[in-house]
Amino acid sequence: MPITVIPVEGLPLIRPGDDLARLIAAQVELVDGDILCVASSVWSKAAGNLRSLDECVPGDRAIAIAAKTGEDPRFIQAVLDESESLILEHPFVLSVLPHGHIGVRAGVDQSNVDGGQVILLPRDPLNAAAGLADSLLEVSGARVGVIVTDTCGRSFRRGQTGHAIGWSGMTAIRDFRGETDLFGHELKITEEAVVDEIAGFANLVMGESDAGVPAVVFRGIPPWTGHDDLYWREGEDLIREALCRVHSVRPLR
Ligand code: GDP
Ligand code: MN
Ligand code: MN
Repeated sequence: MPITVIPVEGLPLIRPGDDLARLIAAQVELVDGDILCVASSVWSKAAGNLRSLDECVPGDRAIAIAAKTGEDPRFIQAVLDESESLILEHPFVLSVLPHGHIGVRAGVDQSNVDGGQVILLPRDPLNAAAGLADSLLEVSGARVGVIVTDTCGRSFRRGQTGHAIGWSGMTAIRDFRGETDLFGHELKITEEAVVDEIAGFANLVMGESDAGVPAVVFRGIPPWTGHDDLYWREGEDLIREALCRVHSVRPLR
């Protein structure tokens, strides 16, 4: 069966208090089994998960980092406030977020929002995705999977792609371990990050600038089974350990 990809067009500029599920359901007819990707920036705008830079009072650490990166110390303070710990301070801040995601500038965004404000990533992204799925069921009658996405950089490669920040109605990973390949060899390590693959395609459809397409529906992706351990546990992440060893950044708190 072919997979259909439907951009959700015609959405307004989202403001705090907007009913995102109702707005989306008014633009696209959802059916059971669809997967809806929504940009975290837009989820956060609707949820009021924003900060005004004027209200971010930079502390000593933010001022010191901002002097190195050349950024606004108030912006760096917002980034530190979202971070559980830091891996790098410069040339850019690389943060570990409370829910496990590791992102440049803690995923705090200054684009696609009114000047003077910053957009934060959802604090509890799994809950954000589940809440939107519940609201979509209420307004559309369809039980859909939801992936909350953000545009992120990667290690080793230039260029950003969409990543899954939160998900509901699916497992993050499709686990191939124990299955056999074309030649009957047992797969021992293959775990596919399906939510990131879908988020990557959604990001392609959304774009980064003024397309105004913050949500994308995927129809016809066959269900999969696996698990939700998308993030390496402490001690498993070789890159993170190596960076921490080389840079030995002072703990945040
Ligand atoms: P992020 O990847 O979650 O940081 O989100 P982006 O800022 O890259 O935006 C992704 C897509 O959503 C782009 O097509 C933007 O033009 C669009 N977008 C962002 N904010 C809004 C909004 O308030 N309303 C609409 N209709 N589109 C938006
Ligand atoms: Mn973003
Ligand atoms: Mn983006």
